[in-house]
Amino acid sequence: MLMGYKMSYSERQVSFVNAVNARDMFICRVCESQDFVKPHYILNKNLFPNGGAVRENGIALCCKCHEKARAWDQFSDNLYYSPAIFFEIIGSSLIEAIEADAKNLSNS
Ligand SMILES: [Zn+2]
Repeated sequence: MLMGYKMSYSERQVSFVNAVNARDMFICRVCESQDFVKPHYILNKNLFPNGGAVRENGIALCCKCHEKARAWDQFSDNLYYSPAIFFEIIGSSLIEAIEADAKNLSNS
């Protein structure tokens, strides 16, 4: 991509999905299922200035684990599906996600 080119939000989302899929190979990182595996935003996009669509904030989850992760977002009921655990599984952290998000707008 061109130097200085700024990706639009939808381009960043596509790039996020591709980056997480490339790393996690469509396998759920919690239970290793391959049923309807999709990237999950570990922390809500609204918490990031640039939308948090970065690999450091993404984890591939199957449909069942996705449901549990969404339930955690609402009720904080099951720590095994919390952001802290997801960051640990993918070897990232809140700080790394914030730093990657900050760079996401300026480079491609
Ligand atoms: Zn799963």
